Amino acid sequence: MGWRDNMKEILDVIIIGAGPAGLSAAVYAARGGLDFVVLEQTYASGGQVLNTSEVDNYLGFHNMNGFELGMKFHEHAQALGCPFENKKVILLKDMGDFKEAECEDGSVYKARNVILAMGASPVRLNVEGEEAFRGKGVSYCATCDGNFFRQKTVAVVGGGDTALEDAIYLSRICQKVYVIHRRDAFRGAKSLEDKLFSCENIEVIWDSVVEEIHGENTVEGITVRNVKMDMAGELKVDGVFVAIGTKPLTELVKNLVEMDEYGYIIAGENCMTNVSGIFAAGDIRKKEFRQIITAAADGANAINSLISSENDK
Ligand code: NAP
Repeated sequence: MGWRDNMKEILDVIIIGAGPAGLSAAVYAARGGLDFVVLEQTYASGGQVLNTSEVDNYLGFHNMNGFELGMKFHEHAQALGCPFENKKVILLKDMGDFKEAECEDGSVYKARNVILAMGASPVRLNVEGEEAFRGKGVSYCATCDGNFFRQKTVAVVGGGDTALEDAIYLSRICQKVYVIHRRDAFRGAKSLEDKLFSCENIEVIWDSVVEEIHGENTVEGITVRNVKMDMAGELKVDGVFVAIGTKPLTELVKNLVEMDEYGYIIAGENCMTNVSGIFAAGDIRKKEFRQIITAAADGANAINSLISSENDK
């Protein structure tokens, strides 16, 4: 008999997404004795962690392969008996006393609460070599992967706050940092811009786009085209940090919960959204610092808030 045969028709909580936030929520839900299910659309749980080459900033796991860390998170949740379903939620409805999640395969789950932990994904450059060298020199997170480019030469692509912050951060680790921006002015904060210009090992390449990322086994160089002069050239780099924005995966709830202008769900540290019984945890939530450790903290906070709000009813 499977776990669903014993399941109450209306669960305590449906957790959507099995990245660090969703899995941490699952661990706390299991330990709190809640009836719940974790719905994850991809083949494996772990979220963006799975695509990270190495993780060196998650406490207790020094120099860890991202995929292995994601698997460890999953194993932990599984060992506590967390029920997982490999399903994509296509519709989420607030029915008042309960919420209803309809999946792509037609199955429907009902629960008094929902934790939205679908995460965010970095915007891709969509150039030749980007996918092939992902985790082999192409990164979307300077604070996660910067340390692996110590004393090397890297390129940061973008001209917003993230790109400026990443370049400044990397300038302390790398020998040389190129910032490649498609226009002739940054859109990031002036204070960051000033800081960036004061870093001697940062060189800005204006009006330029990356056309191709190449190498043998890892990144060795990029083709950069100056869009004003329409001329392309080669640049030798060991790594490419793509910082052209992130996209929260909030399509499912765009007419349901309050979001900021970028589509991140507005919820405080208690992870409560403007809709009773709907919580947002991890990278999907409007917050200052998106990291594995802050996502995991959100999962715990979401379950804690959920239990407190149920007790108050
Ligand atoms: P962003 O502000 O949207 O900037 C994205 C940058 O990438 C822009 O310079 C854009 O160029 C460029 N870009 C976009 N698509 C591109 C493409 N296909 N090819 C080449 N370049 C491309 O994104 P973000 O920097 O990640 O910041 C997102 C939000 O978080 C912003 O509101 C930002 O202020 C905030 N944030 C704040 C902090 C902080 O306060 N410390 C830190 C990080 C982020 P154009 O300029 O030409 O559009």
